[in-house]
Amino acid sequence: MKEPNVGVIGLGAMGLPMAKNLLRKGFNVTVFDVRDEPLRTLESLGARVAGSPRDLGAASSIVLTSLPSSKQVEDVVLGRYGLIDGMAKGGVIADTSTIEPAVSRRLAGECAKKGISMIDAPVSGGTVGAEKGTLSIMVGGEKDTVERCMDVLRAIGVNIYHVGDTGSGQIFKLINNMLVAVNLVGVSEALVLGRKAGVNPDLLYNVIRTSAGNSWALEQKLPKMASGDFAPGFRVWLQHKDLALAMSLASQMGVALPITSLAYQMYESAKAMGLEDLDHSAVFKVLQKLSGMLSS
Ligand code: NAD
Repeated sequence: MKEPNVGVIGLGAMGLPMAKNLLRKGFNVTVFDVRDEPLRTLESLGARVAGSPRDLGAASSIVLTSLPSSKQVEDVVLGRYGLIDGMAKGGVIADTSTIEPAVSRRLAGECAKKGISMIDAPVSGGTVGAEKGTLSIMVGGEKDTVERCMDVLRAIGVNIYHVGDTGSGQIFKLINNMLVAVNLVGVSEALVLGRKAGVNPDLLYNVIRTSAGNSWALEQKLPKMASGDFAPGFRVWLQHKDLALAMSLASQMGVALPITSLAYQMYESAKAMGLEDLDHSAVFKVLQKLSGMLSS
């Protein structure tokens, strides 16, 4: 059965296009954000605007959240005027944010005490994937709950993987994002070396794209990096957050991540250089700085 009443909380780079796709697919959508601008945009497209997560929860049987980090998800679910106070028994929260797996599990436990199910459903594919509705979604949670959310998830994504129990989606997502960061640092090094060696960046792109050094980072980001276009996208501080979460998970598991640690330091440096709100490909500027190619 198609769940008609869907809520979306967090209407930023990812949540706004997700909500638009749900409206396009015919769901009754209620939205909430702490910023007014995306609320007005979605209202003009037919969404109802709620005054709080609690009110949104009362109007929705399934709620998607797309929030920056663990803290905001916790606030929205358990905080004052939170979802848990508004949703009826049997409701489902599908959190598409990337957060700490242990927090996903703890929040799901708190929700269960009130008869509400919570699954983690972090996404990959960037803002382009969110706009086109072609995201990959890595879902952790109970099978029946995941099945119930499928129509909603299919409205925002194409490759939907049920990867295990609650929290498992986050583990897959953190592994994905640590690889993205490592690859972006690699592409940055390649471009810095190529530039200093006098290589044409267009030619470098075309040759490596069809060679063994290719990656998503190279395909999607190298042309923009070469032209100095660092408009987000997935911002530096969110990439830094995900690397920190991957390193924390690795530490809990007793796993060494030497290359990821280096990538993390590059993102630490990008933040220190004031680049936190640029696209994550702006790590290129750190590598340029290290090689004397950036004066300020
Ligand atoms: P964003 O900062 O653009 O959007 C977050 C939104 O949440 C903003 O509109 C903000 O106003 C809102 N918000 C913050 N606190 C709130 C609160 N307490 N209550 C209600 N709304 C609140 O971030 P984003 O890039 O859309 O990322 C969202 C999540 O998706 C993050 O966890 C990120 O790691 C993940 N993600 C992002 C991308 C990407 O390409 N941007 C890709 C995959 C996953």
